[in-house]
Amino acid sequence: LLNTSHIIEKVKHNVKVTGARIADRHLNLAVTGLSGSGKTAFITSIVNQLLEANETAELPFFSVVREERLIGVKREAQPNLSLRRFAYEQAMQALNASPPTWPESTTGISQVRLHIRYRKNSGLSRYISEDTKLTLDITDYPGEWLLDLPLLEMDFLAWSEHCESELQSPERHELASDFLIARDALDLDAEGDELGLKHVAKLYTDYLHKCRGAGFQLLQPGRFILPGELAGAPVLDFFPLSAPQIEGLAQNRKRKGSNQDLLFRRYEHYQEQVVKPFYVEHFKRFDRQVVLVDCLSALNYGKAHFDDLQRALNWLLTSFAYGKSNLLSRLFTPKIDKLIFAASKADHVTPDQQSNLVKLLDSMLHNARKQMQFEGVSTESTAIAAIRASRAGRAEHAGQDMQILQGTDADGKPIRLFPGDVPAKCPDSQFWRQQGFDFPRFAPPVREESHALPHIRMDRVLEFILGDKIR
Ligand code: GDP
Repeated sequence: LLNTSHIIEKVKHNVKVTGARIADRHLNLAVTGLSGSGKTAFITSIVNQLLEANETAELPFFSVVREERLIGVKREAQPNLSLRRFAYEQAMQALNASPPTWPESTTGISQVRLHIRYRKNSGLSRYISEDTKLTLDITDYPGEWLLDLPLLEMDFLAWSEHCESELQSPERHELASDFLIARDALDLDAEGDELGLKHVAKLYTDYLHKCRGAGFQLLQPGRFILPGELAGAPVLDFFPLSAPQIEGLAQNRKRKGSNQDLLFRRYEHYQEQVVKPFYVEHFKRFDRQVVLVDCLSALNYGKAHFDDLQRALNWLLTSFAYGKSNLLSRLFTPKIDKLIFAASKADHVTPDQQSNLVKLLDSMLHNARKQMQFEGVSTESTAIAAIRASRAGRAEHAGQDMQILQGTDADGKPIRLFPGDVPAKCPDSQFWRQQGFDFPRFAPPVREESHALPHIRMDRVLEFILGDKIR
């Protein structure tokens, strides 16, 4: 007997040493999506669900909780001192206010660190120690920044050509009229006029803001809308040229110090000093990525916006398709091994429509996915509500029993409605003619402060992102 216990002690010791060495104890999770897609709500909810996992959170599909192996989760000090801290407390303050309000959206990159203590679930590893720790860093960054990656493969003239085709769409053309007049009057060969260029660049930025206000998402360059620390810097004082200007320049050599020379140099500076550093300093470190997509707002707006969101997604996806485009592989070896696409705000549709919402998202991603290989990356699509603001109910309408939603509007008035059917694939012209889809903005849910935020499928998201790391 003595002998056996001696052997067990020895095995315990060895396993402990190897266990400590091979244990995977750190995970960098990145969350992105275009403005308004729900990143702030999502990260607030993830942190809240994890902090409340053993108390009031409902997470039946999160294995570490279901198997009662989670010991505790704690917020830790900000790891990267040069990044903004994700404003979790402020977000919770807004959601706990009476009446509750939605947290203010983030506009740049920010980070939050959690320590997750848990017990391993099987075999010998039970002997390693009472608990094991995983450090989870969550980084939030604007999806608009990913729209800039394809710029690295375009020179200034090719990029101008691309923008010119966007500017030709009737909806955008109208929003751009002030910019177009100023740009077309510009003498590209004249001596560089910094103030003149700044003025035209400002009109171009105003045009992008107008597009955003009108619900468009494919807005380039990404930092013009969300400049962060670059606000006002001359590197942002450029803009795309018109077709006749492009043609003229393709034939002439540019004169040093001229307007055109300044525009070329700023574009190149933007590529080298703004776009590349984000990939080299941040993107490179991400292990897993969540991409949030607000399909429902695009459906609400109409066809032009829906098509625009689809084009924006195609651009955005190039950042994850390192198989085919070797752009990132030339800069570094990307690490992301799991990628989850989530249609956000799924509490705006009745439960019976949520599977259609996932199908719709899949069909939006389909073309981009087909053209790209996601080498070594496992992808998943889902529909979630980070913070569920409605409840499902039933009502009779024209003799039929149907699912409806109940919630309150921004003024606190109760709403009961059937928001409409979600198409299971990218809608055809018939759908847009009928335009049967409409939803209001719900106020955040009223709840007891000590209760975890209500959600839809955040436990499945947690399982996909973390399940294998805390087994
Ligand atoms: P961000 O710009 O990507 O950070 O987006 P936010 O997280 O700030 O979300 C923008 C708005 O979408 C919020 O102010 C809410 O009105 C709405 N929203 C976000 N997530 C949810 C959700 O899960 N349910 C509901 N009903 N609305 C949401």
